[in-house]
Amino acid sequence: MNAPRTLRAALVYFNDFENCQRFMIDLRWPDGVVRCPTCGSDKVTYLADDKRWKCYAKHPRAKFSLKVGTVLEDSPIGLEKWLPAM
Ligand SMILES: [Zn+2]
Repeated sequence: MNAPRTLRAALVYFNDFENCQRFMIDLRWPDGVVRCPTCGSDKVTYLADDKRWKCYAKHPRAKFSLKVGTVLEDSPIGLEKWLPAM
């Protein structure tokens, strides 16, 4: 993973949502396979309009974002602001 090394680079890098997403996926799913945080299934689909994933299993909270299950979950601040801060 090519994580940016300086704050300036981080701000530019994470200003791109796709980069944020890739970074979070690398962080949470080192093998690159996105899994449902509720049931652990990898049968999920990405909803581009929603910028969220949806699990095919029938359970509550089938839709999830990359922030689910992290400290960022309840934060109103977008990943593009959070990640450079980290
Ligand atoms: Zn699920």
